[in-house]
Amino acid sequence: MEILKGVPVSPGVYIGEAFLLDEGEEVRIPERHVAPERAEGEVARFEAACAKVTAELDGIKATTENQLGVPLAGILSVQTQLLKDKTLRERIFTRIRTDHHSAEFAVAKTLRDVAKVMSNSPSQMIAHRASDILDLEKRLLNELLGEAREDLAHLQRPVALISHDLGPSQTAALDRNKVKAFAIDVGGRTSHTAILARAHEIPAVVGLETISSDATGGDTVIIDGNRGIVILRPDNRTLERYRKLQKEFQDFETSLVKEKDLPAVTKDGREIHVQANIELPEEVRGALTHGAYGIGLFRTEFLYLKSGVMPDENDHFEAYRKSVSKLNGRTATIRTFDLGADKIDPVHYVAESNPFLGLRSIRVSMKRPENFRTQVRAILRASALGKVRLMLPMISCVEELRWAKGIIEEVKNELRAKNVAFDDKIQVGIMMEVPSAALQARTLARECDFFSIGTNDLVQYTLAVDRGNEHVAHLYNEANPAVLQLLKAIVDAAKEVDLPVGMCGEMAGEPIYTILLIGLGLTELSVAPPSVPKIKNIARLVYYEKCKAIAEHVMTLSETGAILDYLREQLRISLPDSNKFG
Ligand code: PEP
Ligand code: MG
Repeated sequence: MEILKGVPVSPGVYIGEAFLLDEGEEVRIPERHVAPERAEGEVARFEAACAKVTAELDGIKATTENQLGVPLAGILSVQTQLLKDKTLRERIFTRIRTDHHSAEFAVAKTLRDVAKVMSNSPSQMIAHRASDILDLEKRLLNELLGEAREDLAHLQRPVALISHDLGPSQTAALDRNKVKAFAIDVGGRTSHTAILARAHEIPAVVGLETISSDATGGDTVIIDGNRGIVILRPDNRTLERYRKLQKEFQDFETSLVKEKDLPAVTKDGREIHVQANIELPEEVRGALTHGAYGIGLFRTEFLYLKSGVMPDENDHFEAYRKSVSKLNGRTATIRTFDLGADKIDPVHYVAESNPFLGLRSIRVSMKRPENFRTQVRAILRASALGKVRLMLPMISCVEELRWAKGIIEEVKNELRAKNVAFDDKIQVGIMMEVPSAALQARTLARECDFFSIGTNDLVQYTLAVDRGNEHVAHLYNEANPAVLQLLKAIVDAAKEVDLPVGMCGEMAGEPIYTILLIGLGLTELSVAPPSVPKIKNIARLVYYEKCKAIAEHVMTLSETGAILDYLREQLRISLPDSNKFG
């Protein structure tokens, strides 16, 4: 049994089989047993694979010798020597003959164990040799598995996905019926991969650093997305304990969902609109079944990221039409493309050394205004069909807002000229997610119709902490007093001119912050669909006046730790059951 601690990013507990997504290989080796009488057959398969790999390596060696000279070719000799190594072979034979494992599992398990020990060696030379072992493992598995290899796109049964990394577009494309949880080496709580996991209700832990080399495909694994724990090859007692925890969590979620349709009104009568964040129109249904008041953020760039094909006006329109029609009069807040940084534009990709500070979001729209125009036209057309708001991402100065509004006006004129229907009073709002915007909130508030605070980016840009980097994840904290000062500045500026202000960053879905956010004066919180019932539930159990006093006190505190302790305590007082919120 091995226990790893990472960053919990999506709640829930999953117990099942590990599927290891090797870089480029995507091979899973289930722990398969064979009947004792078939053991010698498995040994023969292993020997045949060894012979083929030896021939393959000899061939590569001969070519390499010709082209590059003897020293480099010597590296390949090490691999052929390893294939003849007595101890290594004995270990594989024992797994087959004594433990009755299949040849591929015996090879994968033995070679990965050896590689792991080597990579932990204090000797650099030995540590580097670990990759030779893993390379050999891949070659042997290629031979042993042949056509039988299983890839991510054709999984036959439910798995827990283990990988070094997963990009947002890969996560968006996961088959949710098969990938039931995931755990990866890299990432932070507000990386887009983590956000998608929450939206898909897949328990997930990120930032585990070594999980992709510690796990073997086919291992039994527990992924505890509430506590950020992953347990490989758990013993029976641990399995039993986690089955109980899994059940408790499911029961708690079910109890919350029962009350999902009650409005989120505080005990002293203040209504909070708890909305949902979505990436694709198909998610509107999930948002409504969790009791969302509307869609507070539609991350439309996933229409492109999921398919890899830039949507034309009709594709955009269809996506918005579908969403609006399902919403039955509720509002859809459609954000224009927020591409760049970790949401890599597959077609226009340019290498940047600081992509989060580079060509991202509204800056991409300004560079390629034709795509922006197309999207704006589709959003305007959809506004004739229901309640639609248009939201601009990553505004960092008033010039960007004015530029976008200028284009929106031009497109409106084009539509008018062609007699195409749209809502002339469509609200145009902006994401507040860059400190420069927060500091200019009073100016911006006079030129738009609503603010939505994007804490995922606001925190990273305020604290200079990459939101997706596991090495600095401990420094990424919404409760940092600098972040809270900016939140207050935004809310106060909005209040001065009666501008609606909401929050759609992940902070809005964290129970520990609900009291503070209500107290600061926010009345719109947009969260991942599964978080809607719990945030509504908290809102119903508190007094606005008390939340205001709590927020006032928080603003006097100067240390993040003290703020968190205080908020945790206040949540516990309001909701004695709060530890269950994960
Ligand atoms: C944010 O930055 O808080 C936000 C909601 O936008 P995204 O997570 O898509 O960057
Ligand atoms: Mg953002």
